[in-house]
Amino acid sequence: EMKKMVGEVTFDHVSFSYEKGKEILHDVSFSVKPGESIALVGPTGAGKSTIVSLISRFYNVDSGRILIDGQDISKVTLHSLRSQMGIMLQDSFIFSGTIGDNIRYGKLDATEADIRKASRAVCAHDFIKVMPKGYNTEVKERGALLSQGQKQLLSFARTLLADPAILVLDEATSSIDVQTEKALQRGLDTMLEGRTSFIIAHRLSTVTKCDKIMYIDNGGITECGSHDEL
Ligand code: ATP
Ligand code: MG
Repeated sequence: EMKKMVGEVTFDHVSFSYEKGKEILHDVSFSVKPGESIALVGPTGAGKSTIVSLISRFYNVDSGRILIDGQDISKVTLHSLRSQMGIMLQDSFIFSGTIGDNIRYGKLDATEADIRKASRAVCAHDFIKVMPKGYNTEVKERGALLSQGQKQLLSFARTLLADPAILVLDEATSSIDVQTEKALQRGLDTMLEGRTSFIIAHRLSTVTKCDKIMYIDNGGITECGSHDEL
């Protein structure tokens, strides 16, 4: 079992390959303090998504260790690990059901008021309230009828409600209208507060907001520091 997380994350000489003989990450080491936010940037194919999928243990490392609060994540149950992490990938996970159900997700004891509060906090409420049936609007599988930005806002609300110690976010990239863009920026502020966050950042506003920027290139970290330092 993973103990209740504080949120310190350490990569200790991590190497990884998807296919034998084709190493993608080479001897990556870094440490992130609890509550710190990290923007991962770098060219396509550099290994950003790979790094965040390893933190969520979608794959096992070839060598080295990934530690959370000093515990090796390969030695704990997946459930105890993932239940304390908020994982928001680019293609937000939406299932068929109401908007409210999609926000509540695993948090079955959440009330309607809790759901609204979380939605307000991440600026998702504004788009939900103008939908035909508000929180009771049915969304189809994969969220047909919702824009990519709106799906991401829904996943923000879901994550805030779940209140994880560690956040992993791959920012939405497709064209997003100005209003949703603003909501996403403000929602992100709320989400980052008090959580260790790894964000594959596609927006300059996110990069400048994070405590540190990590440049990933060719399977390694080429630079890491605050926006002012770099
Ligand atoms: P992008 O900005 O395009 O999302 P990225 O920095 O997230 O790029 P990764 O997705 O981590 O890059 O990919 C790193 C390398 O690993 C690439 O060479 C990619 O082709 C390879 N790769 C990624 N996923 C897999 C997979 N499931 N199987 C095999 N190779 C993969
Ligand atoms: Mg990627």
